[in-house]
Amino acid sequence: MTRLNYAARETLQLAGLTSRQWAQRHGYASAAEWRGDECGCPDDRCIGYHHDAEEECGCLPALINELRRDERKLADARPVWAAHVRATESGTPEDRAAAELLVAAWVEEYAAGATWHALSDSPRGIVYRNQWNDSTWLLYDADRDSIETAEVTR
Ligand SMILES: [Zn+2]
Ligand SMILES: [Zn+2]
Repeated sequence: MTRLNYAARETLQLAGLTSRQWAQRHGYASAAEWRGDECGCPDDRCIGYHHDAEEECGCLPALINELRRDERKLADARPVWAAHVRATESGTPEDRAAAELLVAAWVEEYAAGATWHALSDSPRGIVYRNQWNDSTWLLYDADRDSIETAEVTR
């Protein structure tokens, strides 16, 4: 197990994150369980491989940005789904149009390369297809309130 170094703890602190939150984000129970590198990269061979010992870690700030983006992605998905639920309940074309506008904006922001998207009731959430394969992917899972991408199997 590795202890996060001073620079890593400072970078995390500036981003409003504790060592514990960072460790948990990567599947460890606590900061004491951290098995990434001491610079904060989840890869335990970051120092000396991704960057030299005297250099700042580039992975950590990039991963923090990714985390922030994921948080926004999830926060922005909730009102989209709420609009879908409202439209389903009311059945009015106005509510449906509002939900469609919201989901289109969300997909444009967070799902680069989308060729098709929909608000789906089975599975419940936002689904899309992209230009790289024929699969349908669940981008927002409304049942789990999660943005962990999953391939939709039928
Ligand atoms: Zn790294
Ligand atoms: Zn590093």
